Amino acid sequence: MGSTREQIEFDVLFVGGGPANLAGAVHLMELAKGKGQDLEVALIEKGDAIGAHALSGAVLNPRALKELIPDYREAGCPIEKDVRGDALYFLTPRCHHAIPFVPKHMRNEGCHIISLSRFVRWLATVAEGMGVNVFAGFAGKEVLYGKDGKTVVGVRTGDKGLGKDGKPKSNFEPGIDILAKVTVFGEGARGSLVGSVAKRLNIFTGKVAQTFETGIKEVVELPKKNYFAASDANDLHMFGYPLGLNTHGGGFVYEMDDNRVALGLLTALSYQEPMLDLYEEFMRFKGHPFVRAIIKGGRVIEQGARVVGSGGYFAVPKLAVDGAMFVGATASMFNAPALKGIHTSMKSGMLAAEAILESFSQDNFKEEALLQYQDLFEDSWLKQELYVGRNFAQAASKKGPVKVFHLGVQYLTGGRGVFEKMSVPKDSKTLKPARPEALDGSARRYGHHDYDGTLFVDKLTGVYLSKTHHLEDQPCHLVVHDLHLCVTTCYETYRSPCTRFCPGNVYEMEVDKTTQERRLKLNPSNCLHCKTCDIKDPYDNITWTCPEGGDGPGYTVL
Ligand code: SF4
Repeated sequence: MGSTREQIEFDVLFVGGGPANLAGAVHLMELAKGKGQDLEVALIEKGDAIGAHALSGAVLNPRALKELIPDYREAGCPIEKDVRGDALYFLTPRCHHAIPFVPKHMRNEGCHIISLSRFVRWLATVAEGMGVNVFAGFAGKEVLYGKDGKTVVGVRTGDKGLGKDGKPKSNFEPGIDILAKVTVFGEGARGSLVGSVAKRLNIFTGKVAQTFETGIKEVVELPKKNYFAASDANDLHMFGYPLGLNTHGGGFVYEMDDNRVALGLLTALSYQEPMLDLYEEFMRFKGHPFVRAIIKGGRVIEQGARVVGSGGYFAVPKLAVDGAMFVGATASMFNAPALKGIHTSMKSGMLAAEAILESFSQDNFKEEALLQYQDLFEDSWLKQELYVGRNFAQAASKKGPVKVFHLGVQYLTGGRGVFEKMSVPKDSKTLKPARPEALDGSARRYGHHDYDGTLFVDKLTGVYLSKTHHLEDQPCHLVVHDLHLCVTTCYETYRSPCTRFCPGNVYEMEVDKTTQERRLKLNPSNCLHCKTCDIKDPYDNITWTCPEGGDGPGYTVL
């Protein structure tokens, strides 16, 4: 590598402080202790604290947690509410209709409503208590390879103190090389480091294209006397309005502790309408009379956004290469029909931990040894869960009756459906050209909600409520490869969809008053790290890279 940077060596390095890696780290320490083995284990997280970038619904199926920490309640696991009943509603623009039959995958009896941010913070304290070195505020910027160019030997963290021009400032601190015998990537959906590994080592070759959904979520504080006091169900899901049946997605409202609710809208990024504004759709969902009645009198206390990888079993990559493994959402460990990824991510981390320990007993960290993780996965309940939903997201991306037909056949055939392996185009390739009325500016804009600054907040207030912060004077972490394309082909064909799919108002199209020329203006300091732009840009013209470690959202209850 020929690097003069500071180097630190560990036996195992976990990259990312989400549930997969934290469960993996805890399980590894436990197993190693049982065998009397002393391992030096580290975990790095790009957020300025564990949980700062963690966002999910979230209903937790405790299956993996029970295996990891059987007495998790006594051990202080932060549970908001136990699920005491599920309800599913079909929304029309003004009405709601309860579906009498909640599909089995969506029945959440025995599950817990949690804040993922709080949950991973707790799990990190468990990991630290077992001896894991947890470093928050360190962003993995580059994957380090051995001399053969294909063995992962660790990661380089990002430099701190670079100016906008990329030149070191007076407070410059070079990133450090963290080396490990095994590096476990659990960066969440659309991890940037895994993207670079995939390019070099082809871990997704032969897999179906990953599909994504963007979730925008809020926690709302309600008056003491609220909807849930008289409701049997505290785990509510909705579909229909506002997305309609041709765009996959839906909303949720979950009861939390202390008179708060979590609510959000997931929109599949396979959508075709370029004028769709994800944030406005979320506002329309909130403004539906049924949802509005639930949150009446409330105040938004936190907001955020993140993509979920919903592709499922056939999008799971090769799970190990020489020196590295892939876990959690990074590795498509998501049960799409159940809308759950936390327990599946945790289990994947735990299976990886078992394979890691075995690789230490053989002193072999090559792919052939680490791929025992793949065998453990194939024999696990995790594989069975993913396999049942193996074609779900792909079928759900179809339109109207075709979608209903495919999902119905899958329901009856244990997930197989009409085709055993259903594939779909990449999410960046599904937009249709904007309709003429959109192009001439006469089309009705989606949404246009009346913001009141309390319960209905605009995008910028939402960014404020996400506690997002970025140092302004640093290189822009959003790389737009061809700015000319933005103001020509993309504007002419799709009317700059980045200005609508980004929930952080990061992209704005400006017109120069003097020259009347258009230009794309970027506000990278608003970025919620949701990764939507990296996925949905129709020309794959945007690459999300990691800003300085510690930057980004500051979630506490999402
Ligand atoms: Fe999400 Fe990209 Fe917007 Fe950041 S810039 S909030 S990653 S869409």
